[in-house]
Amino acid sequence: MLKSAAAISVHLVWPLWGRKAGASLTRCLHQTLTMAKQLQARRLNGIDHNPWVEFVRLSKEYDVVNLGQGFPDFSPPDFAVQAFQQATSGDFMLNQYTMAFGYPPLTKILASFFGKLLGQELDPLKNVLVTVGAYGALFTAFQALVDEGDEVIIIEPAFDCYEPMTLMAGGRPVFVSLRPCPAPKGQLEYSNDWQLDPTELASKFTPRTKALVLNTPNNPLGKVFSKMELELVADLCQQHDVLCISDEVYQWLVYDGHQHISIASLPGMWERTLTIGSAGKSFSATGWKVGWVMGPDNIMKHLRTVHQNSVFHCPTQGQAAVAQCFEREQQHFGQPSSYFLQLPKAMQLNRDHMIRSLQSVGLKPLIPQGSYFLIADISDFKRKMPDLPGVEDEPYDRCFAKWMIKNKQVEGTH
Ligand code: PMP
Repeated sequence: MLKSAAAISVHLVWPLWGRKAGASLTRCLHQTLTMAKQLQARRLNGIDHNPWVEFVRLSKEYDVVNLGQGFPDFSPPDFAVQAFQQATSGDFMLNQYTMAFGYPPLTKILASFFGKLLGQELDPLKNVLVTVGAYGALFTAFQALVDEGDEVIIIEPAFDCYEPMTLMAGGRPVFVSLRPCPAPKGQLEYSNDWQLDPTELASKFTPRTKALVLNTPNNPLGKVFSKMELELVADLCQQHDVLCISDEVYQWLVYDGHQHISIASLPGMWERTLTIGSAGKSFSATGWKVGWVMGPDNIMKHLRTVHQNSVFHCPTQGQAAVAQCFEREQQHFGQPSSYFLQLPKAMQLNRDHMIRSLQSVGLKPLIPQGSYFLIADISDFKRKMPDLPGVEDEPYDRCFAKWMIKNKQVEGTH
C-alpha cells in the first residue's frame, strides 16, 4: 500500500534553568521531518482534534474566565491539603516506586470503602487498580477489552473521550441519544428529563457489541440515571452479554436529593461492570490525577496487563494522600462532617447562582441534577445574532463559544 507523505515540526529548545545573567543558552531550532511513509499510526487517523486543547489555548490568548473545563476554583478541603503535604514531607520512601497496581494503603481503603457501596467483598489486589486519573482508567479499560471491529455503545451527549478511545482500540462507536422532554412553556428543563428511548437503545445491541459506556452523573448534561433507567441498561447488557464501563467520577456531586446508584450494585451486573472513579473529582483536586477502576478479577487482569505495559504504576505521593482522604471519609461517612455530603451542598448553591446568571442574560439553562456541568440553550441568541463569524464553516454552538471568549472574556465549551 502506498502511504502518503507527511510532515512534523520538531522544536528543540535549550532549557533556561541554570542560566547565568547575560549568557543566553536558549536556542530554538525548527526542523521539519518528511517521511515517505505515513508518520502517525493509523489508529490516530481522524481523532487528532480535541475541543479542550483548542479552547484552553484560545482562552489563554484572551485571558478569560474559564468556565469550560471541569475543575474547581476553590481549595480542596483542609484535610486533603494536609494529607498531600504530609505525603510529600513525611516518609521519604513515598518518593519511591510503590506496587504497580496501586499503593497498598490506597487499594485497601478503596476496596473497603467501595466494597460496602457495591455490596461486594473486594480484594485490594484483584479487584482494584489505581490509574492516572479516571482518564487513565478509561484508556486502560478500552485498550484491554475493545478489539478490532467491536462495537461500543455510547450514550450521547457524552464525555468527549469515549469516542476516540473506542476508535484508538480499533472499535466502532455506536451512538444512542438521550432525548429531551420539553418542559411546559416558561419553565426550565431538568437534565433528568432527558431520557433514553428503550426501543432505540435495544436496537443498538448487535452480536458485535462488546461494551456500553455509562456515565452517571453525566458529563455534560448533569443527568443522574434513575434505578429504572439503570435496570433497563443492565437487562440489555445481560441479555446481549455485553460489558458495562461505568464512569462514576461525579458520584458525590448529586443535587436536589437525587441519589447516585452504581450499576455494578444491581443484580447480575458486578460480573460485567468496571466502575471508574476519580480522586480529583471526589476531593476537588483535579491536578492530583489519581483515579481507579474496580471490577471482577477475570476482567481486571486484562487491565493490569495494559497497565504494566504502559505507565506501570502511578505517582506514590498522590496515592498516599488519597488513601488518607478516604480513611478520613470512611470515619465521617453519612455524617454532616463528611466531605461527600458537604461538597454537593456547596456546589448546588453555585449551580443555582449560575442558573440565575444565565437566565439574566437571556440564555436558557438546563438544570443539572449532578456533576460540574451545566448546558444552556442558545437558540434565542441565535435568532437575534444568526451571523456570528465562522458560521459558514463551523456549527453555530462552536462559533458562539468562540465569540464569547473573544467578546465577553468568558469561556464555555460547545
Ligand atoms: N470522566 C468524566 C465524565 C470526566 O468529566 C472526567 C474529567 N473531565 C474524567 C472522566 C477524567 O477524570 P480525571 O481527571 O480523574 O482523569
